Amino acid sequence: MKQIYILLVITVLLVNDGYAQEVIQRKFEKMGSSFEITLVHESPIHGQQLIDESTAEIDRIERLISSWDKNSQTSMVNRMAGIRPQIVSKELFDLIARANAIARLTDGAFDLSYASVDKLWSFTGEEIQPPSATMVHASVAKIGFDKIMMDAKKQTVFLPEKGMKIGFGAIGKGYAADRVKAMLLENGVKAGIVNASGDMSAWGTQPDGTSWQIGLVNPLNKNKVFSWFPLNNTAVVTSGDYERFLLMEGKRYGHIINPKTGYPSQGVVSCTVFAPKAELADALATALFVMGTETGINFIDQLPNVEALMINDKGKIITSKNIAVDEIN
Ligand code: AMP
Ligand code: MG
Repeated sequence: MKQIYILLVITVLLVNDGYAQEVIQRKFEKMGSSFEITLVHESPIHGQQLIDESTAEIDRIERLISSWDKNSQTSMVNRMAGIRPQIVSKELFDLIARANAIARLTDGAFDLSYASVDKLWSFTGEEIQPPSATMVHASVAKIGFDKIMMDAKKQTVFLPEKGMKIGFGAIGKGYAADRVKAMLLENGVKAGIVNASGDMSAWGTQPDGTSWQIGLVNPLNKNKVFSWFPLNNTAVVTSGDYERFLLMEGKRYGHIINPKTGYPSQGVVSCTVFAPKAELADALATALFVMGTETGINFIDQLPNVEALMINDKGKIITSKNIAVDEIN
């Protein structure tokens, strides 16, 4: 689980502007992962109500984007693949359009339509019999964000080939973190952190005025924080493959699929991305796995307001140019 190696340091109960500001926190399970919401509020009761509303918002997003839920709009789009365009809500339309823009930016390393190969692999941590190269090659034929047809006027999405499929596994939790943050901000919450299984969106400061801090732990040496980072109105997302991987001919493969080859990615164990929005950070963290450390960090260095830290399977830490890691291992 991602959150294993992200630690949060929080000071509790301080006075600010004459009002006691409390840190209110709740952990819960949603979207098949663990979430934690931390917010600063003078009323614990009101704070808890806002967390209730946040959980309802996450449920709403899950009903919209889940491809497991047969009744979701996403499932409708997938069912209509090769048949006809499907009308979707503006929210889903816009999310798909933004995801496709990130797909273009990453040259297809992140691609919602990776999902057509989903069935070929099971990431149980065990040795598997490799599928035939022909099968793997055939599986990527249906992938291609640039094939997805979108009509803004009619608000429709069309996957033109039968067997095409989209899935939000790589961006949905980031999107949920951003949405919950926006909802809490609208309700006057001045500071908080939404942690969607390691996808974090933070704003404001701790009650004593200091920044929220996260500590990153090397997955290969989990007992030691190797660097602390302040979270100033930013999002940070980590993609890791500690539990979801498979072995093929003795080699370890992570659960992120290279949409060009159809094979799971190799060589990277963890990617952490800092960006203004969790949605962008989430998609980029996934893309970096596919790109690998060298191409990945070069790519990040060309983007404004985005930083990354990657760890390869030898335990080496590689960072983008504006990140200084205090102490490595
Ligand atoms: P994350 O933990 O955010 O990196 O997301 C990983 C999940 O994204 C996987 O479990 C898949 O559901 C999905 N996924 C895998 N490969 C890709 C890809 N190349 N582009 C988009 N989504 C992917
Ligand atoms: Mg992701």
